[in-house]
Amino acid sequence: MRRNFFQLRLLPATLSIATVACGTSSAASRSSAGQSASSPAAVVIDAGHGGFDRGGIPGQSVPEKEMTLDVAQRLKALLADSGYRVIMTRDSDVFVPLATRVSIANSYQNAIFICIHFNSAKRVGADGIETYFYSRDSLPLASAVHYFVAGGAPSPNRGVRRRGYYVLRKTRVPAVLVECGFLTNPTEAQYVQNASYRQKLAEEIAAGIRGRSSVASTLSSARVATGESIPLQSYIDQTKARSSDRSRSKRSSKKSSKTKSSKKKKSSQPAESEANATQKEGGG
Ligand SMILES: [Zn+2]
Repeated sequence: MRRNFFQLRLLPATLSIATVACGTSSAASRSSAGQSASSPAAVVIDAGHGGFDRGGIPGQSVPEKEMTLDVAQRLKALLADSGYRVIMTRDSDVFVPLATRVSIANSYQNAIFICIHFNSAKRVGADGIETYFYSRDSLPLASAVHYFVAGGAPSPNRGVRRRGYYVLRKTRVPAVLVECGFLTNPTEAQYVQNASYRQKLAEEIAAGIRGRSSVASTLSSARVATGESIPLQSYIDQTKARSSDRSRSKRSSKKSSKTKSSKKKKSSQPAESEANATQKEGGG
């Protein structure tokens, strides 16, 4: 499982992007609610699954719950070093109900919520990074996190997607769920089993959090523009087009997503459902 792992180089280029986008860590200046403008934003980190909930699909060899916790703990250290107040929904191998995770996030007014997951699919070829958000206010954060994680990982970019997962729908603070690759894909599973790769993932997520802060503070009133200010809009559009195209028919792959058919996309279609989406809804 560990052979020739170091194909992935840990890209200095992405780090320089991070430097550009980060700017100041002025997250607190957004402070739409509650806390004083001088206090750093709180980041609630949610390591997916835990305890009896191993994550992934039956028979999966790499336990998702361990990978999410490890990345979460690395992220915690990075953010704490940057002056963020960090709260973990779990910091060990325990099961935490989704409602508890949400209420932890909602107990901090000036917070952002980061759910860390890895994907799985019956098709071993399924691979790539995808990031989910639900509320419009979460889009800048989702865009920023995805920009860095997808940019820093050697995996395909599956785009930013909007979906009503419980932990995204019920949180009252900006919330995103990042799927850091497929543990059922041999190549990505190899990456993830390497500690330096998990550190890299944590660094990219942290860069996204810092990047989102500076973007949000300069464009806090223009919500859509905030999302567009990060060069990721094309991925969002492309994702919508792609999922509707695939779920409807393959012949129209050249058509844009402007048609009515994209309105009614069903998330249960193959292109979507190969990811273990429902598990986040039901089991965390
Ligand atoms: Zn998961």
